[in-house]
Amino acid sequence: MEQTTIAALATPPGKGGLAVIRLSGPMSETILREIFQPIHKKNAFQNRFLMFGKAVFRGETLDECTAVLMRAPNSYTREDVAEIFVHGGEYVVARVFKALFSLGAVPAQPGEFTRRAFLNGRIDLSQAEAVMQVVSSSGKQAANAALRQLQGGALRFAQEAQGELLRLMAGVTAAIDYPEEIDQEEAVGDIAPALIALALRLEDACDVRGAHILEEGLRVVICGKPNVGKSSLFNALVREDRAIVTEIPGTTRDAIEGAVELDGIRVLLRDTAGIRDSGETVEQIGIQRALSAITSADLCLMVMDGSRVADEQDEAILHVMADVPRLILLNKCDLPADDSLEEWLEKRGILSREIVDNGTCNQRDVRREESSWETLSDGMLLRLSAKTGEGMDLLRQKIRNHAGEPGENALTLVRHMRLAEAAASSLRQAAWAMREKMPLDLCAVDLNDALAALSDITGENISEALLDAVFSSFCVGK
Ligand code: GDP
Repeated sequence: MEQTTIAALATPPGKGGLAVIRLSGPMSETILREIFQPIHKKNAFQNRFLMFGKAVFRGETLDECTAVLMRAPNSYTREDVAEIFVHGGEYVVARVFKALFSLGAVPAQPGEFTRRAFLNGRIDLSQAEAVMQVVSSSGKQAANAALRQLQGGALRFAQEAQGELLRLMAGVTAAIDYPEEIDQEEAVGDIAPALIALALRLEDACDVRGAHILEEGLRVVICGKPNVGKSSLFNALVREDRAIVTEIPGTTRDAIEGAVELDGIRVLLRDTAGIRDSGETVEQIGIQRALSAITSADLCLMVMDGSRVADEQDEAILHVMADVPRLILLNKCDLPADDSLEEWLEKRGILSREIVDNGTCNQRDVRREESSWETLSDGMLLRLSAKTGEGMDLLRQKIRNHAGEPGENALTLVRHMRLAEAAASSLRQAAWAMREKMPLDLCAVDLNDALAALSDITGENISEALLDAVFSSFCVGK
């Protein structure tokens, strides 16, 4: 148990209806009794009883407030915890903290409450990380995955894998310890396939791309030459006038970002500067940023003006996007289409002859099998109008489909996946060594590595440095 008593604001700083001040540690009750005067003496300072009263320090009333005491071990940290609910004014909060610190409390580090909950055994490390995930998740899918994690999803998965591995390791240990009684080849014959099966199970639980999408959102970049309607499309997608729409080419000088939630998935949209040859420095910086955004995007929306002839600028942009999953959008379908465009697209292998006419707004859906496009399960080319909204729903649906179903696997955090992958690779190494008839002691080293990686998921025997790394991303008061 920690000796210090920590205090922090559990609600965001600034003005608000309430501010929740949280204390944890051996002095929580003493400090609360010093600073809080309940109105009713009956049930005062009873465990988990919400009291109404005043925060008073050195004879001065700081605020009218409520407070609750949660004695160890039935609290968030398993230590004595006190929570004081004051009015959410910055001055009031600052005064209460000043009082708490002069009564012996110390400011909490980021994530320290959750860290104590972990160190005191109330939750495992994967659940502690889930707390942060719940706090920061901005889409339904991410929040659900975080909740599953908080309820021990990764913990159970890691423990089951550990259990299975320990069972297999017992077989190896027996074969090492009793070489006369146990036939090595027979032992290895049983264990090696089981190690591969376990490695496969661990690998199957990892969806790094999905975890990135949950943690950060699907990165979608809108690109195309000036005046094709990128900003209009961006606005139509975020449904507010964030990007400036003008008729003068080259007005979007830098990237503009917006986030939308599409069917539970957070989508980070980026409207890039129009890519074109320009002598102007500011615009050139924007173009550089656009190019780097394209290469790191999960999906690129290449916008073309469907009512105009395509030119070498479109060609150049298409070239830049060669290796990125992309969706070609022929915008301005409310205007008469340019006839030469289809031929242009066909020559570049974007439009094939098997065009499926979707009816409305000349919606054409083309199927092609090309590796970088396969991720877009159906349709790479859409005709739409950012102005009238025609085709926009289909576009939203295609963007959403591109995210897949992240978070369905047992593991949802990138850190856990890296560990599961490391464990799987050690298991494969051990199985290989067994088949190559290497000494079993050598295999045991790989198996121990696998076991250590699995225990790092739940945080058994975890180092201080790793703990610091995990909790450094937390906010104060959590
Ligand atoms: P950007 O330079 O690619 O960002 O293009 P903007 O979004 O600024 O649009 C350039 C011009 O095209 C503006 O006058 C828009 O109103 C117009 N525009 C954009 N989308 C459409 C569309 O779907 N139909 C029509 N008719 N005009 C559009």
